[in-house]
Amino acid sequence: MDERRDRMPPEEGEKTARIRVYPDPVLIRKAMPVRNIDGKTKAVVDRMSELMYANKGIGLAAPQVGISSRILIVDVGQGLRAFINPEILEAEGEVVLEEGCLSLPGIEVPVKRKQKVLVRGRDMDGKEVNEEVFDFQARVYQHEIDHLNGTLIVHYLSSLKRGLLIKKMRKELERSP
Ligand code: ZN
Repeated sequence: MDERRDRMPPEEGEKTARIRVYPDPVLIRKAMPVRNIDGKTKAVVDRMSELMYANKGIGLAAPQVGISSRILIVDVGQGLRAFINPEILEAEGEVVLEEGCLSLPGIEVPVKRKQKVLVRGRDMDGKEVNEEVFDFQARVYQHEIDHLNGTLIVHYLSSLKRGLLIKKMRKELERSP
């Protein structure tokens, strides 16, 4: 997910190019669970965090860097957190807010999310982590877990609205060098 309150045009260059953009098929595929948390997982997380920070993101899911594995990272100002095989155990309340996504440059969509979620996953050492998160942080987790299930923010729109937005996004992408 991107930080819409601090939106900046994506910088040109190799780093930006490596974030997968809709309709890349890896984005709409259900990602596979990670069986072994090892050096390879760490390498994926390193690559993801590099790209997330380079693009001023606050969250990123592995499919966005072309890897169909259930790995997400977030940094909403409290440092980098990586979650392997995350799942939402409990959820409460509902809030609608506009969201952006690094894989859908220039698009913002109102998305209804749970206000509070309990997320369970594993950290980089393979240890089980349970985290209760609220509001904006809860939204970021839900957005990234959606990515692991092949769901993007445009999937919350009617197909008509989605089509129009995607068309607009493609036009803008073509215009930028
Ligand atoms: Zn996203």
